[in-house]
Amino acid sequence: MSGTPRAWPRPTRPRLSPRAAYGIAPLLRPNPLYRRVAAWLERRPRVLRWFTAAEERGKEAMFGCRMCGQCALPATGYACPMTCPKQLRNGPCGGVAPNGDCEVYPGVTCVWVTAFERAEEAGRGADLQRLQRPIDHRLAGSSSWVAYWQGRDEHLWTPDGGLRLTPTIFRGPR
Ligand code: SF4
Repeated sequence: MSGTPRAWPRPTRPRLSPRAAYGIAPLLRPNPLYRRVAAWLERRPRVLRWFTAAEERGKEAMFGCRMCGQCALPATGYACPMTCPKQLRNGPCGGVAPNGDCEVYPGVTCVWVTAFERAEEAGRGADLQRLQRPIDHRLAGSSSWVAYWQGRDEHLWTPDGGLRLTPTIFRGPR
């Protein structure tokens, strides 16, 4: 992650339409080639830094990504929950205005309202019922693509509403 301090999170409406985001997602799914690339990158810290910087630039422009390192986008309508000023990963706080505006930034739509609208538009509204597990803040600034391709992101959220399953604490790589 770049060394400059970042401004407070501000709800961000993604530049990519839901149709485009869900359409591109299968192209990034882990496969043996991506796994090899990820492993190769992890053996070369300098190249990994370049790759991570490119990921940050692209995802920040597209989604307002804040490089939490454990990407929730596929389960949140491709709206980044880390752009919530309270960084809530399991839905909105109680302060959302009746018109859907953020409590902290009046005039700006709550990112969870955006997430719900986008997921619904793509026929993926049920994704919003999943429970996002607590994230490991030590991974902030790392490449979530590399983690995804290495299979480290598999337990970030429950497969369903989560109420039938015992929540698992995500412990990150060892
Ligand atoms: S990596 Fe984290 S901060 Fe970046 S888009 Fe995904 S959820 Fe948001």
